[in-house]
Amino acid sequence: MDTPAPGHLCCDEVEWLDSRQSVLGQGTRIRRALPHRERRLIGAWCFLDHAGPVQFAEEQGLHVGPHPHIGLQTFTWLIEGELRHRDSLGTDQRIRSGQVNLMTAGRGIIHSEDSATAGDRLHAAQLWIALPEAERHRPPAFAHYPQLPVLTQEGVQLTVLVGTYQRHTSPVEVYSPLIALDVQLQAGTTLPLVLQAGFEHGLLVLEGKLLLEHQDRLSPATLLYLPPGLRQLSIKALAPTRVLLIGGAPLNETPLLWWNFVARTEAELRQAVDDWNTHPERFGPMPEGSGAAPLQAPALGEVRLQSPAD
Ligand code: MN
Repeated sequence: MDTPAPGHLCCDEVEWLDSRQSVLGQGTRIRRALPHRERRLIGAWCFLDHAGPVQFAEEQGLHVGPHPHIGLQTFTWLIEGELRHRDSLGTDQRIRSGQVNLMTAGRGIIHSEDSATAGDRLHAAQLWIALPEAERHRPPAFAHYPQLPVLTQEGVQLTVLVGTYQRHTSPVEVYSPLIALDVQLQAGTTLPLVLQAGFEHGLLVLEGKLLLEHQDRLSPATLLYLPPGLRQLSIKALAPTRVLLIGGAPLNETPLLWWNFVARTEAELRQAVDDWNTHPERFGPMPEGSGAAPLQAPALGEVRLQSPAD
């Protein structure tokens, strides 16, 4: 086999993972990058949905009715549009462009998510973070982050969503070593993206097109997985481009995921499904005001330990 050129994305451990189409709420088409059949986790990141950019028709919008979560944090990064989050803690929070909502489900919470204005645009990413064993039964919590650290240089605007990049630290509170960056590049701009060698990483183009290490092209709908050990990745924007980088220390636990639940055993998942469908008050009071009815939890069939949409 030929020795790869220096910097070329060489090794077998690099994975090119196709997102799949899924539907959120009442027909909003999204791309689901994680979990993937061949890749369940990147650090503690266990779920990644990319919604839009989309212009809703008049009187249309995203409406995800009340549903529960356990064992995870939901991390919402809003790029365009405005969403309204309501939860069983009594939170009623609007999230706008450039802001983050972080909901820590811990032992259980209920929330709904709705477009704030009908006929609006929407561009967002929602990720889930599996809570480590010691934290997964913690009380539920919600935090809104209206501002995050932004680094700018010629042709580049980089927002530190989670973790630390070049001594700039995000205020977003997570429970395992993680990073998330939103990087906007003007067409033609090259950036040597600094990686943490102890982390595995994922790169997802949200808009535009990238050239990686002068060689490989990356477009929306493909998640690039990079194994631990890399210290830098050269990215060049072939068009005005926005890219999401996530990463973390490989998790030495195996979270099981079913529907909106993250747990460790099938029995826990079965219990959560049953509780939600028969006595949802286990998860707290039902938040009111959503444009959609509460969701029904799908029964665990053949447990494939992944989202039933797979
Ligand atoms: Mn949710």
